[in-house]
Formats: sequence, structure tokens, C-alpha cells
Amino acid sequence: MVIDEVEEKKEIISRYRRLLRKAKPSLKEGDAKLIKRAFTIALEAHKNMRRKSGEPFIFHPLTVAEICVEEIGLGTTSIVAALMHDVVEDTDIELADIDRMFGKKITSIVDGLTKIRGVFEYGTSAQAENFRKMLFTLSDDVRVILIKLADRLHNMRTLDSMPRHKQLKVASETIYLYAPLAHRLGLNAIKTELEDLYLRFTDYEVYREIADKIDETKASRNKFIKQFVQPIHDELGRLKINYEIKSRPKSIYSIYNKMRKQGIPFEEVYDLFAVRLILDAPLEQEKSFCWQAYSIVTDYYTPNPDRLRDWISTPKTNGYESLHTTVMAKNGQWVEVQIRTRRMDEIAEKGYAAHWKYKDSASSGESNLEKWLVRVRELLERQDLTALEFVDDFRGNLFSEEVFVFTPKGELKTLPNGATALDFAFDIHTDIGAKCIGAKVNQKLVPINHVLKNGDQIEILTSAKQKPNEDWLRFVVSPKAKSKIKEALKEDKKSIAEDGKEILMRKLNTLKLEPTSQTYEQMLAYFNLNSKFDLHFRIGKGIITINDLKRFKEYKPSSPIKAKSNTAVSDAKSFEQEISRVKGSSNDILLIGEDMDVVEYKLAKCCTPIPGDDVFGFVTVNEGIKIHRANCPNAPELLANHGNRVIKAKWTSQHEVAFLTGLKIIGTDRVGLINDVSKVISEELKVNMSSLSFKTDHGIFNGEIMLYVHDTRHLEVLIEKLETVEGVVQVSRFDSRG
Ligand code: MN
Repeated sequence: MVIDEVEEKKEIISRYRRLLRKAKPSLKEGDAKLIKRAFTIALEAHKNMRRKSGEPFIFHPLTVAEICVEEIGLGTTSIVAALMHDVVEDTDIELADIDRMFGKKITSIVDGLTKIRGVFEYGTSAQAENFRKMLFTLSDDVRVILIKLADRLHNMRTLDSMPRHKQLKVASETIYLYAPLAHRLGLNAIKTELEDLYLRFTDYEVYREIADKIDETKASRNKFIKQFVQPIHDELGRLKINYEIKSRPKSIYSIYNKMRKQGIPFEEVYDLFAVRLILDAPLEQEKSFCWQAYSIVTDYYTPNPDRLRDWISTPKTNGYESLHTTVMAKNGQWVEVQIRTRRMDEIAEKGYAAHWKYKDSASSGESNLEKWLVRVRELLERQDLTALEFVDDFRGNLFSEEVFVFTPKGELKTLPNGATALDFAFDIHTDIGAKCIGAKVNQKLVPINHVLKNGDQIEILTSAKQKPNEDWLRFVVSPKAKSKIKEALKEDKKSIAEDGKEILMRKLNTLKLEPTSQTYEQMLAYFNLNSKFDLHFRIGKGIITINDLKRFKEYKPSSPIKAKSNTAVSDAKSFEQEISRVKGSSNDILLIGEDMDVVEYKLAKCCTPIPGDDVFGFVTVNEGIKIHRANCPNAPELLANHGNRVIKAKWTSQHEVAFLTGLKIIGTDRVGLINDVSKVISEELKVNMSSLSFKTDHGIFNGEIMLYVHDTRHLEVLIEKLETVEGVVQVSRFDSRG
């Protein structure tokens, strides 16, 4: 490729000017100078670097800064930090240099955005550690995460130029952590784009198909909306309420999710789009304007009483405010109508940053977001969690929708959906949670695991004798309750282990054994345990008895016992070695079918891949390499946490081999149907079945068949054939994405 340096310089400058232009409305005196300085330094630092696409690297920080301004609504501090965000990681500039040039604030943001280097302990995950590190800075400054999201968004937009296995890793992290995070911070537009990009890079065919269909139906959709809105338009005009209509179709990813969850084709997704009325309303009249609009809409169209959502009176924790109703249009189609003011709409799209703009409005959404940040901080302050546990807990926190309940005094509490009386007790106070024996919900006595509903009023009953036990972990959903119970259990365990240690010391003494590290090693091997703590705990609990210890003494060999059976991967180093051995031995790409004798691999049971599927290999701790489909339901978690264990894999042609996979068949029941289906499979197509199960319920049947096929093409032929059987409505592979 020939690079025209003059052209490139021009392009860089023009992009920089565009950034400044977009930032201009929010700039104060001296800001432009600061931005220019950051740009100059970043430009110089990255000058010899190019992105995978061949572009000059500086395009990346420039675009990230632009996203911060335009799509998140951030200001100068963030622009400067965004311009510098890759400098420490990738160039010679150090944090101390940034501190000297831009001060503490920007340094701490850039620090939060810089990945940790080095080797991580066995059982940990570099990705999880880095994610946790980034979130640590959240308690100081939420901007770190906002800039990180902008960074991620640009990387996802430019993922095309990355090799396939990197695409999968980055896309998985995105769907596993970053999209939920964007959602939690109320950044709806970014969340939607991240999800769509994820689908695009993991299942391009499906993505393309849905995108095309959205395009094809555009004209008829617009016509429909025009007619639908006409009467509402007239009435709002009479009331002199200014408004704007937005009706974007649902995102590709959410349509895809609907189709998959409900097992329906595109054409049957009834809520493809929502009609949004955005009202210009003075702050003090927002609520009444919205309800007036609601009243007009439901004058013309009958609402579904189950689908009214009032997030104006009680906004969502991420700050979302809106009034939703689903009404029946004149053509018999359900349509969701979202009613909100311009301020609410901006917050819905840009999230947290938009709150700053409306800070004086005393909106309760903001205090809700504050509450969420407090919860995240609580989570972060727990030192005892490993990074993986942390990411898991954090995700729990991200996904939860809320339930609104009341204390006996009428105070409103927001808990994650599915929360129980026990969650509520821990939300009030740790001590009340720990002593909880039951509750009265709306005056009725209920057990501690009773699930709460919106509007419940709860009084907690306690007893001084009560204390948390293991079962409780299954009764709660809120991270706070979970962590408090775990803490209590850990304390409990600790004191049992301390007792156990004392018992052990006395016993070793009478057995005339020294408590040396060698003795410990032998005991751990003999009892098949992982740590001293486990050993002490089991002795304290009485699981390992004095007699067991005696037997150990009798058994004790003169030479050390070989440690556990899976020595090969019992520590970080040997595991890393195993990975590089496996990775190195197959020339970077595992050929399924050919490399069988070089490395051991198995096809994953969760997604039963067959030739033709897009796949990757994953190095497991105990079972060698597993081959998964790129769209396996477990892929996001595996790739997001353990990207370093992924190896590229490819099918080789092997016609004589057959692979196990599964099909789901839905249809209307009739006599002889099962017979016809199995006939097509075994006689016409000569495919071997491994199992077949059918359930019928009121004339509808659901069948699941496990069978052996050669490749995806073979499977497609089979599906087409099965769909021609009378009574069969739909045939699909049942293992892709849950
Ligand atoms: Mn970056």
C-alpha cells in the first residue's frame, strides 16, 4: 500500500478540527489550548504507529474523544483523557509525565484506562483483573468508564480488520460486560450499537437477514406511523403542546433475541418498532403534559391494561424516565407508545452525562443512579473476591431490573427483581438481615425466601438466636445480601478452622510429628485437599477425625506422595506452558480431524458443533481442548474471561465422519406424525438418530432429536426436508445461544 503522507496529515488535521468544532459549545477559557496540547502530545507519541487497518493510530484517540463529546456529552477533561488514553500503554510516555503536564485528575483517569501488564495467577483472568481495575476508579470518577465505553465502541466499529479469533474475543467481552455496563449507565444508544455489532461479528448471516428485512419494511412502516399519529397530532396541536415523533425500529439484536426466545420468524415480531412522543414541557409541568398525551393516545386507541409502565413517578435505577403504553391500532396491530419530555429523552439516550446538564432539576433519576454507584462501590470495597467472582457479582448487578417495595413506615426501597424478604432485611441493615427469621408482607406472615412484588409492604421479624447458613445464598439475589451472607459464613468458617488448627497441633504432638511444611504437604495429598485452611476446617468440623489422622501417620510413606492427579495444570506456570505447547504444536490453528493425534480435543456438548460451523478451540483445565461454536451460549463468558486460552480452529474435509447435533421440531399434533418424521430422517436421508423425544400439549407437539450429520450443508437439507412433513411448523437447531 502506498501512503500519501501529505494527504494523511491533512486528514488528521481535519479530524482534529472536527473534534474541536463539536466540543466548542461546552468549552471554557483555556480549554481549547489544553485540548491542542493533548492532541500534539498524542500525535507525536503515536507517530510511528498504525492500526490493524493501516490507518494512522492517532485516528483512534481522536475518534474516541469525538464519541465522548458527541454521543456521551462529555467535556474537556474527558477529551484530554481520551486523547491520551492509549499513550501510557503503548508508548514511552509514563503516568508521571502526564501528571506533570495535565495534573492529577487526568492522570488518574488515564491510569484507570491503562491495562495491567504481567502474568496472572492460575485460576485468575487477565481480562477480569483489568475490568476490575477499571471499575475501581469508578468510585472516584465515572468518566473512566464512559471513556472506556467510547474506546470499546470505536474498536467494535473497526473490528473488521482484526483476525477472526480476536474478533470473537473482543465481541464476547463486549456483550458480556460492556453492553450491560452501557445499559446500566443509561447509555441506550451506545448499548444498542454495541449489541448490534456483537451480532454482526458473531453471526453475520443472521445479522444481515434481519437488517435487510428492516430495510424492506421501512416504507410500509412509515406509512403506518403517519396514519397512526395523525389524530394525536391534531389533539396535541389544539393543546398547543410542541412535540417530536421518533419511531426507530427495535435494534437488530433485540429483534434477534425476540425471534430466538419465542421461536418466531421476523414477520411475527409484532413490536418491531415503538412510536415515541417527545414533548416540549416546562420542568414543573412534565408529568402532567405526559399524562395529557397519554389520555389523548388512549382516547383514540384501546390500551392493553397489562402494558402500562410509569417510569416517570418511579424512574429506573439507571435514570430512565418515560411513560409506556401498548395500544391496539385500527388495523389490529399492537403498537407501543412511549411518552416522555425532551429532557427525559436526552437522558434516555445519553445517560449519566446528560444528568449533569440537568443537575438543577432535582430529578429523582439522578439520585437513583447515585444509589447504584453506591452499590457498585460497596462491591468494590470487598477485598476478598477474586476478579472472576467480582465480575460475576458485578454482572448480577448490571442485569437486574427492579422491584419497588415499602418499609412499614412507607419508605420506598428499590431491590433487584426476584428479591426476597431476606434481601429486603439485608437492605435495611446487615444485623437485621443476619437475624431475620421471617417477615410480614402486607400483614401476612411469610418465610424468609418469599419473593417480593411491586408495592409490597414488608416488616421483618428477627430473633437474637438466628444466624446465616449456606442455604441463605440460594434465597437472595441482591449482591449486598449475598456478600454479607458470604462474609458471615466465612467468619464462621474461620473460627471453625482455628479450632481445627488447635486440635491438629495437639494431635501431631501426640503422634510425634512436626507440623513442618512437608508434613502439611503430605497431609494435603493424603486427604486430597487444596489448602491448609481446608484441612483445618475439616478437622474443626469433625469431618476429618483423630482416627483419620492416626491412619495418616501409619500410612505416611518415607518418600513424598505424588500430589493430585492433575499435576500438569495445577499451577499457573504449567498451565501457561500447556497452553503454549498446545498452541505451538498446531501451527497456530487447530485442524479438526487432522490434529487428533497431536493434541487432544473434544467437541463441546453445550453447542454440538458440526463441520461448516464457525468454531474456536478453548483450552480447559482438565479436559484438553474443547471445540465450541462461535455462537455457543457459553462463548461470551469463556472468551470474555479467558481470551488467552482460545485457539483458532478449522474443520478439515472428512466426509466419512458424522457429528452429533440436535434439532428442535415444533408443529401441530396428528396421528402418525412421529413416524413420518423419523422416516424422513432414517430412510430418506439415511441419518442415524441417537435419541428422539416428543412432548404433546393440547395438540401442539415439541420434539427434540439428537442425530449424526456430516456438516452444516447436510443439516440444512435435513431441516428443509423435515419442514415439508405435514403438521411440522418449524425446525431449528436447538443449541445455539440458549
Ligand atoms: Mn484505545
